[in-house]
Amino acid sequence: MKLPNVKKPCKDCPFCKDSLKGWLGEGRMTEILAADSFVCHKKTDLQCAGHMLINGDHNGFVRLANKLGIELQLTGKELVFESTAACIEHHAN
Ligand code: SF4
Repeated sequence: MKLPNVKKPCKDCPFCKDSLKGWLGEGRMTEILAADSFVCHKKTDLQCAGHMLINGDHNGFVRLANKLGIELQLTGKELVFESTAACIEHHAN
């Protein structure tokens, strides 16, 4: 069984370390990261890889996959910020 998710961070992903500094603002990024899951309408209607990578078990989609014993096959963890705090700080303007 396959779940509808992105497998690796897309280009220009706001959760990635090479994203534009000050892009989304502290408030918006805090809100996005606090959400249980995230679908990025800019690129795709699939569950976002970056949000799952940065939030791990705090992402409901990751928890669901674990519960069902489904491997999400996520790659690119090295591309996203090491912590939500670092990501928020990067987006603050
Ligand atoms: S779907 Fe996720 S990984 Fe892809 S660009 Fe959007 S936020 Fe980034």
